[in-house]
Parts: sequence; C-alpha cells; structure tokens
Amino acid sequence: MATALISHSVCVQHEISPGHPECPERIAAIADQLKREGLYDHLIHHEAPTASTEHLLLAHPESYIELINTHAPSSGSVQLDADTSMNPHTLNAALRGAGAGVFAVDQVMSGDVENAFCLVRPPGHHAEKGQAMGFCFFGNVAIAAKHAINTHNLERVAIVDFDVHHGNGTEDIVEGDANILFCSSFESPLYPGGYRANVEGQRVNLPLSSGTGSDEFRSAISSTWLPALHSFRPQMIIVSAGFDAHADDPLANLQLQDDDYVWITQQIMDVADQHANSRIVSMLEGGYDLPALARSGAAHIKQLMRA
Ligand SMILES: [Zn+2]
Repeated sequence: MATALISHSVCVQHEISPGHPECPERIAAIADQLKREGLYDHLIHHEAPTASTEHLLLAHPESYIELINTHAPSSGSVQLDADTSMNPHTLNAALRGAGAGVFAVDQVMSGDVENAFCLVRPPGHHAEKGQAMGFCFFGNVAIAAKHAINTHNLERVAIVDFDVHHGNGTEDIVEGDANILFCSSFESPLYPGGYRANVEGQRVNLPLSSGTGSDEFRSAISSTWLPALHSFRPQMIIVSAGFDAHADDPLANLQLQDDDYVWITQQIMDVADQHANSRIVSMLEGGYDLPALARSGAAHIKQLMRA
C-alpha cells in the first residue's frame, strides 16, 4: 500500500517576514531530502485542494472565517498576532493546508493509499476556534479529525501531536468532543504557555522539561500516550508532525535526535495497525532547523512508506 504526499506550490508563497523561522524553504527542505533518499518518486503526489467554508466551520465560527477573509491583503502584509501575519498568498495557502488534511482523510478512507503526509504550511495546531496565533490560521488537524467523524462516520479518531509546542489550538477546538482523543507532548514551560488538565479517554497532555532527551521522551510516551491510545482503539490517527523537539532546533530546548522520529512514527503505526486498519494522516507543523527538519521529516515519511 502506498503513501500519499499532498502539497501545493502556494505553500511556499506564504511568508511571515524575511528571515522568519517559519520560512518557505521548509517545504523544499523535506522534499529535497526525500529526493536525495530516492523516496520522492515512490509517493503518490496530489495537489492540495482548498478547504470549503463548510470544512472550516467544523473548527471555527463564521465570524472568525470572515475576519481572516477580510484581513487577507492584496499587497503588503497584515499582522494578526505578535508572530502571525498574512501576505497576499497566505489565505490561499492556509485554505490549502486545511484542505490537504480533508483530502488526505478522504484518500485514506477510500483505501487508495494506506496513509498520507501533508507537506503544507502555514501550520495549524496553534489556531484556536477564534484566534490566529503562533504562525497558524486554521486548525488543520482538528478539521481533518472532525471531517473523518462527520463524513466518514468514524466514532474514534486520535490526534497525536509531537511538535515541541503544545497544540493549544487543537486542544481548544476538540474540547468536549467524545469522538476524539488528543495526545500532545511538548516542552514546558514554553510557548504558548498553559494547557488543560488530562481527561481520561479525551486528553493526554505530556509536558516535558527543557533538556529532555531520547530515553526520557520514549519512556514518557510509552507510559502515557501508548496505553491511552490502545485503550481508545482509534479508527484513524491524525498526526501533528512538528520536528522542533529536535536537539538542533533554534526555537526550543528538547534534545530529540533523528532516530526518535523513526521511533515515534513506528509507535503510531503500531497503534494504527492494531486498531485503525493502518489509517494515518500526518500533517507538517513546526521544525525550524532546516537540515534537522529535512532529515527528521524524511525519516517520518520513510517509515509511513514502510520503505
Ligand atoms: Zn512548534
């Protein structure tokens, strides 16, 4: 079975500001590494469609969608938050990011591919129901999860988020949805700050202290996420794949290595193989050291491909 790679050229036209770490080059860094490793041509490539308003409404109120639409500039840049701004391509790129997740869910549910990776930006896991923040505009993984439940009648979808930052936006959007288990590992204290208490069967927040390395990370995931995931028995797993917990990342202080992304991907696939007919949709979130992002992202995708 194959792995889909879903992306769009407009994802490299969105730019926050020159020199910003969430930069257009992040997309090519991963794609070029896949080419160097001979993996790129073995993926099933699709262009990301735009998400419809109906899809966005799964996660955001109409007033917020209107706000993003009306702020989208035809030239120059519009600031929405201290570190989140829009250029003339941002709205299209953000719609393609959300649309990629919806499309990936449909692809995986159709059985045409085993799993999918969405190579998109801007990322999504910091976008709350009514607030763009942390380089994010729409809750891509939350929209994908809710689409899987609404359109494909799934009853249990797990979201796992191994980005170094807490997935506050996803947490906000899926709060109270008994069909979704949300697992997030993150450095704490670190941006964005607070996180909600764990709720059995719904939320597993795993704060990690600065300096946490491979052994401690693997042991913490094994004792918190994995039992919760096995007991939830997800029918699909959606991954917020951020690679900024890598030791080389400039925005955070965890000490993960390339191999840890192989390991965590294997753990997620093991759960999916046992409970979810192997169905995984993974979406790019953070990762700001380009060489580490390239290696870790390609390692993650290589595992998904079982290559
Ligand atoms: Zn991050």
